[in-house]
Amino acid sequence: MLVVMQSQATEEQVRAVCKKIEALGYRPHSMPGAQRTAIGITGNKGEVEAGSIEEMPGVQEVIRVSKPYKLVSRDTKPDNTVIKFAAANGHSQPVTIGGRDLAIIAGPCGIETREQAFATAERVARAGAQFFRGGAYKPRTSPYSFQGLGEEGLKIMAEIREQFGLLIVTEAVDYESLDLVDQYADVIQIGARNMQNFSLLKRAGRAHKPVLLKRGISATLEEFLMAAEYIMSEGNYNVVLCERGVRTFADHTRNTLDLSIVPAVQRLSHLPIVVDPSHGTGKRNKVTPLSRAAVAVGADGLIVEVHHDPDRALSDGMQSLYPDQFDALMQQVTQIAAVLGRTVPKSTSVHAEAIISAD
Ligand code: PEP
Ligand code: MN
Repeated sequence: MLVVMQSQATEEQVRAVCKKIEALGYRPHSMPGAQRTAIGITGNKGEVEAGSIEEMPGVQEVIRVSKPYKLVSRDTKPDNTVIKFAAANGHSQPVTIGGRDLAIIAGPCGIETREQAFATAERVARAGAQFFRGGAYKPRTSPYSFQGLGEEGLKIMAEIREQFGLLIVTEAVDYESLDLVDQYADVIQIGARNMQNFSLLKRAGRAHKPVLLKRGISATLEEFLMAAEYIMSEGNYNVVLCERGVRTFADHTRNTLDLSIVPAVQRLSHLPIVVDPSHGTGKRNKVTPLSRAAVAVGADGLIVEVHHDPDRALSDGMQSLYPDQFDALMQQVTQIAAVLGRTVPKSTSVHAEAIISAD
């Protein structure tokens, strides 16, 4: 059920409707938009008795939502969600995901050492990334592969935020790591393998930071949106979707990057969607071409693996760009973004500028 308020409805009227929904034993989710506020109702097993709400002042209509998801839907919120970050240390401009600026997230697959993380962070900050990625908890196919540095890795990333003004994106794999990631990072990543870990999704929905939700390796569009719905239904409306490739019969790449999901998501949902061409292809030589394509198809940003020394990376070296390649990628996608009226923010980190002028 969705309560659509009149465009001139007052905040008080919105609050009264939310109170009424609570009194009926359900949960209200108020979604203000440019034209009007809609209030999603969750927690109902069946039909909500619409009559009593429909008569309340400020209410335009109460509609049944036939789709299995409500809060992620454009029916609930017609305008795009723009996630705003308090200006990171050293940034002169606020950073957003889902607005005119493309969000560029770059960094190594895993945080291996302080030196490795800093060397890579310096280069991606200088190239103009606003976000630094890196796993402290690595979900590896083999239990004998590098599993990440844990909290030590999170501490290194928190230092990187201080030093370079980069916002931190890192994966949580379970409840325990999610609590720590919520504490140290700016964006909580939920990986492809956990896209349908419903208890973890609900926990992320109670966290304080935005969530970057990766598409599962065999997830349909609807399953992907339902996973986001789990997070939003707990009250965290700052969700970024991420296409990272799905498994197909094709064996020339690690996964098949499904760029058609970008406009498909945008048709159905107000949530931003970014593309990961690194896991999406698994091959360094395909990352830049597919980054160009992702921006052209209308993605709200990119998440790209970059390593200062990929040949010695402890994970995903084959798909990690050399820093010089990332520089070229940034220049190319900046030009493509302009065609679509989007911008790739120039490096605004005063720290990065300091690095450049120190050369
Ligand atoms: C990653 O971003 O390093 C990662 C493990 O991604 P995914 O969950 O998409 O495999
Ligand atoms: Mn990786």
